[in-house]
Amino acid sequence: MITIDCANDNEIATELANYLKGHHFEAKTEKSSVMVNEANVEQMLESFLVETKRLGYKVRKIDPTNFLLAKEVPIEDFGFLRCEMCGYVVSSEEELLIHRRAHGIQLL
Ligand SMILES: [Zn+2]
Repeated sequence: MITIDCANDNEIATELANYLKGHHFEAKTEKSSVMVNEANVEQMLESFLVETKRLGYKVRKIDPTNFLLAKEVPIEDFGFLRCEMCGYVVSSEEELLIHRRAHGIQLL
């Protein structure tokens, strides 16, 4: 049994369950979670997002039986900054400046 947690989005859970049923999967919902009697749902989840044009949503595998389907929130929304050279995440402008200096040495 695979559980897909739709992050409190009951609407997307219902839609996903219907989508899976339409593809002959046995699916049921419980609040915002979808339970499927099928091991290989990963590909189905990806095509569900593509077919329903849910750009910005991502499927994350938490463990072999648990998936999370949720909107990706850019880290910038939480007030974090990201080093444009290596992707390192810092929480303040000062930290970023200090971090960038470390690259400076290698880049010069
Ligand atoms: Zn960096």
